[in-house]
Amino acid sequence: MNGNETASDIPTPSLTGLDILRDEASSDWSLEDADITYHIDRWGSPYFFINSEGNVGVRPLIDSDLDVDVMKVVEEAHSRGIQLPILIRFQDLLHRRVVELNESFRVAIEEFRYENHYQGVYPVKVNQLHEVVEEILDAGAQYNFGLECGSKAELLATLPHLTRDEMLLICNGYKDRRMLSLILTGQRLGKNVLPILEKFHEFEEFIAAATERNIPPAFGARVRLSSSGSGKWRESGGDISKFGVSIPQIMRIVHRLKEEGITDAFKLVHFHIGSQITDIITLKGAVREAARIYTKLVKMGLGVQYIDVGGGLGVNYDSVDFGLDQSINYTLQEYVNGVVYTIKEICDIERVPHPVIVSESGRALTAHHSVLIVGVLDSTRKEPELTLPKVTEQEEPVIRELYDLFETLKSIATDTGRGERQRLARCLEIFHDAIEKRGDADQLFSLGYLSLEDKGNAESLYWRLIQYLDQILKGFDRDSLPSDLYQIEDMLVDQYLCDFSVFQSILDHWAIAQIFPIMPIHRLSEEPKRRGTIVDLTCDSDGKIDRFIGEDGERNHLPLHELNDKPYYLGCFLMGAYQDILGDMHNLFGRVNEIHVYADAEEQNNFYIEANIPGTTITEVLSLVQYSSSDLRKRMDGIIREKVRLKEIRPRQGVEFLEQYMAALKEYTYYNFTDLHQVKENKDKPSFTDDRQEP
Ligand SMILES: *Cc1c(COP(=O)(O)O)cnc(C)c1O
Repeated sequence: MNGNETASDIPTPSLTGLDILRDEASSDWSLEDADITYHIDRWGSPYFFINSEGNVGVRPLIDSDLDVDVMKVVEEAHSRGIQLPILIRFQDLLHRRVVELNESFRVAIEEFRYENHYQGVYPVKVNQLHEVVEEILDAGAQYNFGLECGSKAELLATLPHLTRDEMLLICNGYKDRRMLSLILTGQRLGKNVLPILEKFHEFEEFIAAATERNIPPAFGARVRLSSSGSGKWRESGGDISKFGVSIPQIMRIVHRLKEEGITDAFKLVHFHIGSQITDIITLKGAVREAARIYTKLVKMGLGVQYIDVGGGLGVNYDSVDFGLDQSINYTLQEYVNGVVYTIKEICDIERVPHPVIVSESGRALTAHHSVLIVGVLDSTRKEPELTLPKVTEQEEPVIRELYDLFETLKSIATDTGRGERQRLARCLEIFHDAIEKRGDADQLFSLGYLSLEDKGNAESLYWRLIQYLDQILKGFDRDSLPSDLYQIEDMLVDQYLCDFSVFQSILDHWAIAQIFPIMPIHRLSEEPKRRGTIVDLTCDSDGKIDRFIGEDGERNHLPLHELNDKPYYLGCFLMGAYQDILGDMHNLFGRVNEIHVYADAEEQNNFYIEANIPGTTITEVLSLVQYSSSDLRKRMDGIIREKVRLKEIRPRQGVEFLEQYMAALKEYTYYNFTDLHQVKENKDKPSFTDDRQEP
């Protein structure tokens, strides 16, 4: 407490609780506490962890414990002049996931004596970036890992990547003539390209086109299963799905193939019951149904060779089965075992040869490899560092009453003689009184009975009370709190303003309320004493993150560190699936700067940055909405010339203004952090010369 607070006419209550809040580094905070606070074990293991320096580390290699300090990567990027926000791609992690998926299948196939192999494909829509696709193909080469496409553009992008004839290219989505014809060309080139027919008429068109070009056709069909998925994406499967061929239509296809004598054309049975399948039992049900369909088709004399179980292999955004609606209740190996064992079981019962197993896992391969790093620009407290007002005997009654609540609260805090329930009931009463008095103060002010200073004092007292209550309530079991008191924790949450756009970089948080792991990437050996939500730079009230992974389920704030004069960085993890690609141009923030990091024991700090892909410049985002920089220049020049003509500015200034404008067009769309920290350093020097002082 500083001097002017205690200089009031009556003694200021000593806010025991608040003193604890301000205390410097409580010594019993350990890295394990940080582990628990941010649940890194649940979503990050074995890839992400907290290292001995209190920074987030990553172990990107499959066959080594080599680790990379994420903070050191950010520092190196910073020293090279790469601005935040930065998307870091750990290319080795992509590699690792591809190998892990394939090896899991190899292990299961061996264990269950499955008599065929696994040959997966990567659905490029999950992350179409060329380097991501190339890394996956490179890691998957030893397994003949292929690709999946869902549109004409994706077909054009993927076809030239079929370097070996055995690799599969699975073509999903609705296909027009041009697309079907390109697929036939791929087949004619000897490539293993399979269109997955979604509609009966696609079948007719495809067969007609093949006959016309005299190419023996090969295709798969997406069957409409009765089983549907679980979780957020469940409507992609089941009877109500917009995709898939019904069983009566499959029968029509079978009859037509028999008539034409091309029963070998039907190569693959496909299903996809949605992304991030949360329940393994749902998946097994779908596999069982598809496997039955496969065996019946084989028995009818068709040459089906593959079962494609689609995507849906989930990622632990929090943990195996921890209560969020996106939690999955299985591990990678359990998923793989379920697929392999179920198919084998059904085929053995039906006495039909085991098919090649195909899967289209996208999220599970890509989610881990990229981390978005954002800088915190500022934090806003609900209860700013208030000095407790001087309260005199002549004070407005409402202020005195608020003040008196302190005394009462203090007696509750120290009175341990009374039972818990009684003390909670008193806290609740004081909370309600505080709200009522604050309301009174607001009303009195509106009616002109309270000065601005008094209103300020009333607000200070109110927030200090809430803060004090919050401290007292920490001594109680949170679940035992009445709901009004339960919400106090959320009332005291700070807003951390961060340099990024939710709509560009973490779209699913906004669109489908998905929760991503977010945590500071450094200072983890310090106790995070604040609670915050995250707000972005966009002028949109939805541009915020206020749902985080909590103890059991979600929480509305994140424990964060108090800002000091050094940069504070947050990492948003598991960003590699869908987010990179979905981002829109909200408020014209474009793609963020991107760096590709490789682990290497020979390098200083165990890593090197290979590629630096600059984010979108302002000129580029503007051109996407049809502004040309030459037109903008002409307009800006016109405005400036007019002012020069009117002698409101000098010609030399006019030239400078135009240059400044043109230079800004070439810049990165995000906040310039370098400027921020320079301004802080040169606080005393004015950063602009004042034009008006010119003679
Ligand atoms: C989106 C999609 C996938 C990828 O699903 P994940 O859950 O990301 O693995 C696979 N197949 C099809 C047909 C899809 O539409």
